[in-house]
Amino acid sequence: MKIDPYISLTEKINSGEFTSIFILVDENTDQLCLDLFIKKSKINSFNKLLIPSGEQNKNIETCNIIWDQLNFHKADRKSLLINLGGGVLTDIGGFAASTYLRGIKFINIPTTLLGMVDAAHGGKTGVDFKLIKNQIGVFSEPLEVILDNDYLKTLNKEEFINGYAEVVKHSLLTDKTSLGFNCLIKLDLFEDSEFIIESYSKIKNDIVKSDKYESSIRKVLNFGHTIGHAVESYSHMSDRITDLKHGEAIVIGLITELYISYKLHSFPLEDVLSVKNHLSDYFKLVTLTDDDIEKIYNLMVYDKKNKGDRINFVLLKRMGKPVLDQSVTKQLFLDSLTFYNE
Ligand code: NAD
Repeated sequence: MKIDPYISLTEKINSGEFTSIFILVDENTDQLCLDLFIKKSKINSFNKLLIPSGEQNKNIETCNIIWDQLNFHKADRKSLLINLGGGVLTDIGGFAASTYLRGIKFINIPTTLLGMVDAAHGGKTGVDFKLIKNQIGVFSEPLEVILDNDYLKTLNKEEFINGYAEVVKHSLLTDKTSLGFNCLIKLDLFEDSEFIIESYSKIKNDIVKSDKYESSIRKVLNFGHTIGHAVESYSHMSDRITDLKHGEAIVIGLITELYISYKLHSFPLEDVLSVKNHLSDYFKLVTLTDDDIEKIYNLMVYDKKNKGDRINFVLLKRMGKPVLDQSVTKQLFLDSLTFYNE
């Protein structure tokens, strides 16, 4: 029989360790997930904190709403914040908790595929600042992450698929052949979601465990994100293309950074093509113009992971064999987007 994922939460709450419980929800998880959470966890004494949903609200103003509500309800250092939502909510909630009164404890209960396989784990919390993704934040581990894929039942197909980009990234990074990209593509994303969540979140957790503060090996998780984050930020400021979801932007990052890996490290071209084909079965690949690409480049130069004006990439020598701190010329960046657009 499956172990009840809420047992340890109930135990923690019953232990009397916390003076008050707060549950953070957004407009959608308030309507679609909170009742399920209450039913499963049997927690009924709490204050609800409600924030607007969406990446456009992943900012310091939304933190102000959370901090205001915590103050209003007289939260103290022994209060607990439970973050019930997708990656946007767990990123903001984790940040707001970690900075309120110099840090209160928080628990993440991810309700999107992206949150379950990636965002809720690993202790990166934060908000966007002036259109740059995750520019303000702290490393702070949740007390616990509760995985319950019953929440996925209310998630629409588009949001579900959005999380698949990070699953593909984890499959490209693992050296365990049984979880590698060529095995992943044999699975059914919807039918096998429980296995996918468990196995592919573990890949991230194993990496994070050995390098909590991203001084070395954890950087591999940025694969696809150097270009991907810049594309995502650009889509929010551009009038020409519509806002891209995190996963949709990361798909562009994965394809272009695999192409750069092919050029600099002889990553097999047939594998680059096979990943591109597979991703295009799930995601609509938007065409980027020369003007879009120039602006994306400029945004990328400001990415926080760069040292001076050098742009640092994580690349792959082959599947499961990442290489860190690779410098890439502007011309190769442009070529990779030409390849992506083809
Ligand atoms: P999201 O949190 O915005 O959720 C997507 C949408 O689905 C929202 O409208 C939300 O209200 C709704 N929703 C959530 N759960 C639902 C449910 N069960 N049923 C119906 N609707 C539901 O987006 P996301 O894709 O989960 O997360 C993206 C964010 O994650 C980005 O900001 C990205 O930067 C961040 N991220 C963080 C890390 C990290 O390590 N901290 C890693 C990857 C991504």
